[in-house]
Amino acid sequence: MTHKYPRADQFVASTHQVENQPTALENYNLYLADKALRKAVEREGASWAYSDLIAFGELAGKADSIEQGFQANKYQPELRTHDRYGHRIDLIDFHPTYHQLMSTAIEHGLHASPWSEPKLGAHVARAAKYYLHTQVEASHGCPITMTFASIPALRHQPDLFKEWGPKITARQYDPRNIPHTEKSAVTIGMAMTEKQGGSDVRLNSTRAYPIDKEGSGQTYELVGHKWFVSAPMCDAFLVLAQTASGLSCFLVPRWRPDGSKNPIQIQQLKQKMGNAANASSETELRGALGWMVGQEGKGVRTIIEMVATTRYDCMIGSSSGMRQAVVQAIHHASHREAFGAKLSEQPLMQNLLADLAIESEAAMTYMMRIARAMDNQDDEHEKLLSRIATPIGKYWICKRTPNHAYEAMEVIGGSGVMENHIMPRLFRESPVNAIWEGSGNIQCIDVLRAIEKQPEVLDVYFAELQRAQGADKRLDQFIMRLKSEFTDRNMLQYRARSITDNMAVGLQAALLVQHASTDVADAFCASRLAANAGLNYGTLPTGLNCAAIVERASPADAQ
Ligand SMILES: Cc1cc2nc3c(=O)[nH]c(=O)nc-3n(C[C@H](O)[C@H](O)[C@H](O)COP(=O)(O)OP(=O)(O)OC[C@H]3O[C@@H](n4cnc5c(N)ncnc54)[C@H](O)[C@@H]3O)c2cc1C
Repeated sequence: MTHKYPRADQFVASTHQVENQPTALENYNLYLADKALRKAVEREGASWAYSDLIAFGELAGKADSIEQGFQANKYQPELRTHDRYGHRIDLIDFHPTYHQLMSTAIEHGLHASPWSEPKLGAHVARAAKYYLHTQVEASHGCPITMTFASIPALRHQPDLFKEWGPKITARQYDPRNIPHTEKSAVTIGMAMTEKQGGSDVRLNSTRAYPIDKEGSGQTYELVGHKWFVSAPMCDAFLVLAQTASGLSCFLVPRWRPDGSKNPIQIQQLKQKMGNAANASSETELRGALGWMVGQEGKGVRTIIEMVATTRYDCMIGSSSGMRQAVVQAIHHASHREAFGAKLSEQPLMQNLLADLAIESEAAMTYMMRIARAMDNQDDEHEKLLSRIATPIGKYWICKRTPNHAYEAMEVIGGSGVMENHIMPRLFRESPVNAIWEGSGNIQCIDVLRAIEKQPEVLDVYFAELQRAQGADKRLDQFIMRLKSEFTDRNMLQYRARSITDNMAVGLQAALLVQHASTDVADAFCASRLAANAGLNYGTLPTGLNCAAIVERASPADAQ
């Protein structure tokens, strides 16, 4: 019998070939692809980490690793307050890929290597790895950073540190919901912010009541709320609470030492626009047990070392976001044609790509310089430099990221807006680092505070700039103008942003003229130091070698 209708496969007509679309940027070595980073690692003292970084760069660039980032953000954490029998459990379910990202980070020491294996270049090597892994996925960096940053604060309480230190630094991820006493590896969070005050933590209303004796290392019960507690599945948190002597710092575990659940109740998870794979919660402390860390009434002084360290990590995170945005943009523009030529070869696109590339390299170069300062805290110059350069960099690098992400998205065109591209995630992530751990204005005020308390930080800052003296006339003139800003003591706080902007750009320029390619340094000085600099990305002046800058930033050779 003959068919009345055509066979089904005859309906599958071929409509078109997919052409002029780039391949996915995956299965490339993120470290080898990054010439400027490789040079920075060498320069700042971590050449010994070379083979480790190559292996890590390869892992980070694998299609499977990249997919983990997508999955962890697509299937977001969910809160279970109670079990089926009505018991309070306060548990969060994460997608398995979130745990995989955490495992990778911890097994590679991103949470602790400079503390557990201190040596020259340890911070530099760790910063480079963190920079690579955050390009895969940024949200899991929150608990990694908090765990990393808890160590300097916990050292204020040697008895607690003795018990907790080895578990915090262990290269093992143990997400089990069991008491810390039964674990050999733990993660740490922090809880400062309350509804009535985040920047001004002096307004904290959570109270701590001594169970027996008062003072350092003693046990207290904490009653109150915290408006932001990120990564609430951490095994313990550094928490600020009031005692009779004022704001004090406590280590509050999720389980009491007797094996009962510590009454830290999660009210709800925040509905965040970015940082989606990581949970952030609103929490109540209903008599939660905690140990006092450091001196009573000096809680801010104790926790500030944790805060300073998280601010440093914000610089790494935002630099990393910029780098990933740049490689995505360059990769796309190098494989896409419009009006008869590759996008990456057309003059206006070259201007834009080069501008994005120098911003990214300036951010990375700055943060790697501060990583070296972190490695050399016994040296007075380095110590003072990290004091002043951390708030400057935290403010500037984080603040430059959102517009950078948006411009990179636009390079990719319509596909850059789609959720199956990494760009929407980079964009949503981009404002977060600027806001948490002390928002922009707070950083600028901190810069002024540092100068007021220790005027030598300004000498150290200018000494650092002086190293580049004579290399570029525009920079020499910029430094003179910047110095004169400090002779005017009028309305300093009002001017704090413009002062900090200039300090950031000045230090970035000084580092680039010493260490970057001539093309990059020239473009940076021409566009960032001039009084008539363009307001948008893609407004570099003429006479620059944009093609060489794009080539330097390109991931092309490493795929
Ligand atoms: C995703 C996410 C996760 C977070 N996780 C945690 C966490 O785990 N633990 C935790 O403790 N907190 C966490 N936070 C809270 C965060 O640290 C605070 O939101 C931040 O410190 C700002 O505090 P605030 O929201 O109360 O704003 P406010 O303090 O009310 O500040 C509002 C604005 O005013 C500005 N401002 C404040 N004072 C001055 C001044 N004197 N002069 C000029 N401007 C000023 C600030 O810069 C800011 O822009 C998280 C926040 C986010 C977004």
